[in-house]
Amino acid sequence: MHAPDPGLIAAIKTRLAAGPQPMLIGGDWTQAAAGQTFDSHDPATGERLASVARAGSEDIDRAVAAARAAFDGPWGRMRPAERQRILLRLADLVEAHFEELCILDTLDMGAPIRHTRGAKDWLLGLLRYYAGMATALYGQTVTPSTTSDIFACTVREPVGVVGAIVPWNGPLIASIWKAGPVLATGCTLVLKPSEEAPLSPLRFAELALQAGLPPGVLNVVPGYGHDAGAALAAHPGVDKIAFTGSVPTAQAIMRAAAGNLKRLSLELGGKSPNIVFADADLEAAVPAAAWAAFANAGQVCSAGTRLFVERAVHDDFVAAVARYAAGLKVGSGLDPATEIGPLVSPRQLERVRGYVAAGEEEGARLLAGGDRPTGAALAAGSYLAPTVFGEVADHMRIAREEIFGPVLAAMPFDSAEEVLARANASPYGLGAGVWTRDVGRAHAFARRLQSGSVWINCYNVLDPALPFGGYKMSGFGHESGTQQLEEYMQVKGVWIAGEMR
Ligand code: NAD
Repeated sequence: MHAPDPGLIAAIKTRLAAGPQPMLIGGDWTQAAAGQTFDSHDPATGERLASVARAGSEDIDRAVAAARAAFDGPWGRMRPAERQRILLRLADLVEAHFEELCILDTLDMGAPIRHTRGAKDWLLGLLRYYAGMATALYGQTVTPSTTSDIFACTVREPVGVVGAIVPWNGPLIASIWKAGPVLATGCTLVLKPSEEAPLSPLRFAELALQAGLPPGVLNVVPGYGHDAGAALAAHPGVDKIAFTGSVPTAQAIMRAAAGNLKRLSLELGGKSPNIVFADADLEAAVPAAAWAAFANAGQVCSAGTRLFVERAVHDDFVAAVARYAAGLKVGSGLDPATEIGPLVSPRQLERVRGYVAAGEEEGARLLAGGDRPTGAALAAGSYLAPTVFGEVADHMRIAREEIFGPVLAAMPFDSAEEVLARANASPYGLGAGVWTRDVGRAHAFARRLQSGSVWINCYNVLDPALPFGGYKMSGFGHESGTQQLEEYMQVKGVWIAGEMR
């Protein structure tokens, strides 16, 4: 894999250093009404990358008003085929600028460039899938009506103004997952990126304007959760909140959204099980088990962080995963050889180190990692070596709580029924993996795992046409697939009585 062009990196940094990055409201690039800003830092070096306009409640008011005006204006009357053309142009622009968007995410939140580049086909596929769906969202006719002669049909209409509140672990992914269905269905959007990673959402919005999106359809208001996020969640002018983030924030958003009974979709965290049976292709399962937990330095909502291994192969398998983890290359995300980048911030690093300490205190055995990697080049970044714990018990915090860092908890099991019960004994239900060559067992686990996604002999695979979402406290609603588009539409029943004259 080639290194990113140093000239492009320098040009991006120069642009970011030029002054506070403005927010986008009603098609205008603007500073915050209160004049506030916040800083974005490169977690690989600790360097300040950019100052960013910080939205407060007045800016949220302005953005919601712009989104409402666009919804009530020409956008609301625009034909689906025209929205489709805009989405296709946007996909082409994202494709043309993909390397720049990857570099922005790497600089802003640390993801290795090989990770961000690796999402290219899927992300472009998503935009083109939404474009395709834009002209396929029609109602049904129910004629003759089952109880009368009146002509009856349904029409599907956009829900209106959507507020999207997203986390930092995949800023470009989150922007596309939220803006795509909005554009396909004819809603309008106020997107609040995370205060930790606002840069690629702003650049994405610039491309959307270039693609011909009318002013006010997409507004981007970077800011903090407790002011900008809370104001958006409570705003009476917002019809739906699409939230991705943690459970406590989701609970605050549900309360804030109660005022005008906003529709909600919640994509939350997990503590996903990854189950390896002795009959599996173990050679493939070893690296896959590591990557299930360590991709994006573990900052993945569906990370497979509870590794259950059948006792007959447990010791060798877990030792092999620990060896594999110890061999992963940790470093700056801009190095194409890097496999594990820094965590998003020093604060997140300390949070994750707290879990490592808790694992050791509760008696788990540290088999790999556990601390910051050595080396002068890594000293200033928020790095943690990929960490594997063995001898973990189900009751330990590292086996129950979402860590959102590169920490894997390995545990043996003796029977299928036992491991199914233990896998399901979590308040979360986002992802689950099963490794086996037994087709009957694969089917049984796919049915009985309480999880929004089940991956058999693979992990964390995503497709634009397949819904992704949570069971239990991992949330409700979906990303991707026709199921996601339903969340942005409402259905109207229409009755047309008539007589021959
Ligand atoms: P977070 O809940 O702290 O923040 C998410 C967003 O909510 C941010 O934009 C933040 O500013 C905002 N926010 C914070 N407090 C708010 C409030 N009171 N009102 C309104 N908005 C508020 O989550 P995070 O730390 O940024 O991200 C990590 C979490 O996101 C993890 O739990 C992870 O599993 C989850 N996640 C889920 C998915 C999914 O698709 N299921 C994808 C990525 C991340």
